Amino acid sequence: MAKLTFLGAAGCVTGSKYLVEAAAPGGTGSAGAGKRLLVDCGLFQGNNDLKDRNWKPLPVDPKAIDYAVLTHAHLDHTGWLPVLVRDGYRGPIFANPATLELTEILLKDSAHLQEEETEHARKKKYSRHPEPRSLYTPDDVGPVLKLAKTMPRSGGFDISPEFHVASFDAGHILGSSSLELTITEGRKKTVVVFSGDVGRYGQPILKEPTTPPSKADVLICESTYGDREHEDGDPEQLLAQIVNRVVKRGGSIVIPAFAIGRTQTFMYYLHRLEGQQRIPRVPVYVDSPMALSATDLYVKHREDHDLEFAREEGGDGKGDPLSVHEFHLTRAAEESKAINNVKTPCIIISASGMVSGGRVLHHLALRLPDAKNAVILAGFQAEGTRGRALQEGAKTLNLFGTPVRVCAEVVEMGQFSAHAGKSELLRWLSGFPAPPKQTYLTHGEPRAAQALQAAIQEKFKWKAAVARYLDTVPLGA
Ligand SMILES: [Zn+2]
Repeated sequence: MAKLTFLGAAGCVTGSKYLVEAAAPGGTGSAGAGKRLLVDCGLFQGNNDLKDRNWKPLPVDPKAIDYAVLTHAHLDHTGWLPVLVRDGYRGPIFANPATLELTEILLKDSAHLQEEETEHARKKKYSRHPEPRSLYTPDDVGPVLKLAKTMPRSGGFDISPEFHVASFDAGHILGSSSLELTITEGRKKTVVVFSGDVGRYGQPILKEPTTPPSKADVLICESTYGDREHEDGDPEQLLAQIVNRVVKRGGSIVIPAFAIGRTQTFMYYLHRLEGQQRIPRVPVYVDSPMALSATDLYVKHREDHDLEFAREEGGDGKGDPLSVHEFHLTRAAEESKAINNVKTPCIIISASGMVSGGRVLHHLALRLPDAKNAVILAGFQAEGTRGRALQEGAKTLNLFGTPVRVCAEVVEMGQFSAHAGKSELLRWLSGFPAPPKQTYLTHGEPRAAQALQAAIQEKFKWKAAVARYLDTVPLGA
């Protein structure tokens, strides 16, 4: 019988990795004779215990995994691929074109930033390791890209005789999908649905999340916001209020955001607000070596665009709904540092979204001590991250080994989340034509996963369990 092992995103929101094992046709069912498919291969992020998992070998030899498939490009779903391949994985890595192109940008950026930070930590001696090392370097990324194989954006696709996948828009970031996996073992077929990360209904740019119309034997569902709703309110209006308030008092706004997804959402809203003269023209810095390429991809992959975005682009696709009047993209570290000299109001969008690393650290070190400034927290802030500390009202933040006073206004804007809130997850779940025989909740901190479990049991009466790290569960009866 097929089985699944939770190699990550169980009890936490990062490190998504699910190992699916199919028994050989006509075989005894021993896993050794069958085939193995890895669904997502994410990096653990957050506290030190989680990060340490990135350095440990998988409980299964990567050489013994036959295939890999990705739900979307975010690092917590792809960022461990360089280690997997370095440790011996040689099979294909399947994903749709947008996901593969974003993954390439992202892995290169991740490797580059890790090197930059390791170097910085070595110089300034603030690492908890005497000899800080990067988990991987840019040299480890090339071999991953060589294994990339395109699969269609939607519809069915045969990975192998044992594994067939069908993809559905997840509305989370460009290319993001929910996957319906059909496992064939001899005459037996088992259907497993992976939600991937479920996006939001009615958000700009991307299409709506679509529930796979599957009669699933097993459903693996994310639960990031399983215990919470996002704040109400029109994000455009709220953003206009903040920009006007901060600019009026002569301050600047720092937005910790991942270069893919939320950065484009912010650019889209700023473009609209500026066009409607609802905010003053202030320079916007997108400080990321990869944001330009990611933004180009957002424009290029029109198969993912919702109707309004397509309309703003115009029939010829030449409109530019992701640009503002004074827009700077900074790639080089020197250009990034030069933003420190900008003393007049500006908006800086920079990674990482959870303030766990990246160039946003420099911007916050400079701007946090000044009460005129503001920080907008838009994404999920995992336990143990500096983003979570800011969200919870920390008075100081440890940056580069030094405590930095937090005097800037900290604004939480869940309206900009790329993740479905609790009721949106339930709406997505309600789209299944029949109850899955078993549902496992992943990609959520324990409280969120348990809250969603209780809500599913109450609303749908489905059998639902919270996934446990490294547990192996049978698929199908
Ligand atoms: Zn994601």
